[in-house]
Amino acid sequence: MPKTQDPKCARCPTRVCENHGAKMTDGPPSMKKLPGFCPMKLMPDVFTDAAAEYDKPEVREFARLASVQEFQCFEKPSSQHRARLSRIEELMQFALKCGYKKLGIAHCGGLIREAGLLTNVLEKNGFEVVSVQCKAGAVAKEEIGIAATEKISGPENWESMCNPIAQAMIINRTKVDLAIMLGLCIGHDTMFIKYCDVPVTVLAVKDRLLAHNPLGALYLSESYYRYMRTGNE
Ligand code: SF4
Repeated sequence: MPKTQDPKCARCPTRVCENHGAKMTDGPPSMKKLPGFCPMKLMPDVFTDAAAEYDKPEVREFARLASVQEFQCFEKPSSQHRARLSRIEELMQFALKCGYKKLGIAHCGGLIREAGLLTNVLEKNGFEVVSVQCKAGAVAKEEIGIAATEKISGPENWESMCNPIAQAMIINRTKVDLAIMLGLCIGHDTMFIKYCDVPVTVLAVKDRLLAHNPLGALYLSESYYRYMRTGNE
């Protein structure tokens, strides 16, 4: 049986879906140039199903506000667009648009200083702020089967496990309008999202090596980080 093809937008040479340069009067793009791996070709029914979701009033309004926010992140002083808002400013503008008053920060213990700075900024701008860090609960890593030799601080020392499920449960119980993830580890962030019942956004992801800027490795993947692209060669 032939292998089912999966979408690969990241490899697209045409980007037909962007319909770049077209006027509204030109209508949607011609589908003739879609590559074989295009999701519009492979899964057209998905777009019908998605459109039905956007027809739900609350979903439509959320999507509309998100796109208004996107628009407001640019200015056009000349013929070129320029970005004008940091992510934190965007976060606050979007929260205001959505009528969110109470925000919950789920942060890493390693970013407690940043969580405090963020709390200051959010409170100064009129938000009520809840925060809970990953080590809350003080549960020893041995409880999830971590061996003494797998503890960062050494076999003989206590090491509290990251507890994203408890973080999510606390965020849920405090009835915040929006949860903000700040520097949770890979995997722990996945669990937090899985257990969080309120809307979630990400302010920053954990990258210990690159000052929480994981894209830095991609930007250098043709020079210092070339080894990441060549695998085990
Ligand atoms: S949706 Fe289709 S046209 Fe658009 S980037 Fe993906 S593969 Fe290319």
